[in-house]
Amino acid sequence: MQTALYPGTFDPMTHGHLDIMERALRLFDSLIVAVAVNPYKHPLFTVEERVEMIQEETESWERIRVEPFDGLLIEYAHNMGAQSIIRGLRAVSDFEYEFQMALTNRSLDSSIETVFLMPSEQYTYLNSTIVKEIAHLGGNVSQFVPKGVERRLREKLPQPEHE
Ligand code: ADP
Repeated sequence: MQTALYPGTFDPMTHGHLDIMERALRLFDSLIVAVAVNPYKHPLFTVEERVEMIQEETESWERIRVEPFDGLLIEYAHNMGAQSIIRGLRAVSDFEYEFQMALTNRSLDSSIETVFLMPSEQYTYLNSTIVKEIAHLGGNVSQFVPKGVERRLREKLPQPEHE
């Protein structure tokens, strides 16, 4: 039984994140999506909201569960029985940080392997920050996030008044 852990802030989840989850499920028997509390990143959504948004979207998927987590990722992965950590790799700009993280995690626990997956090309430029900026300015984010996330963004962000 091969279990992978996909950690992130998911503030909020985008189609890029979903793309990575689908790919991971093709490789692993089960996937745990671990939503980091990450208070120092000052997320727009609470960890409970971020977990709920992913749960709503993956409700009908088997072999996946979504959990909040706090603390040291590698310890959490170990405690959850995961053999691998999944990270999405978009552009070269992701590489340096991800490389550093993967090697640091390996030095903390060499039994857990980090696996990088590339999303479909159309999502390579997509990130949660851009989505929040567009939504904040009243733009249409329907091509970037599922409907439920779009609704929550509208509720959360004050919309600019158009003349
Ligand atoms: P973190 O704070 O851990 O970077 P994110 O929610 O931004 O949290 O990202 C979680 C993981 O998902 C990271 O590995 C990131 O590279 C990946 N990811 C984010 N957006 C995309 C996307 N559009 N396509 C592929 N992977 C993505």
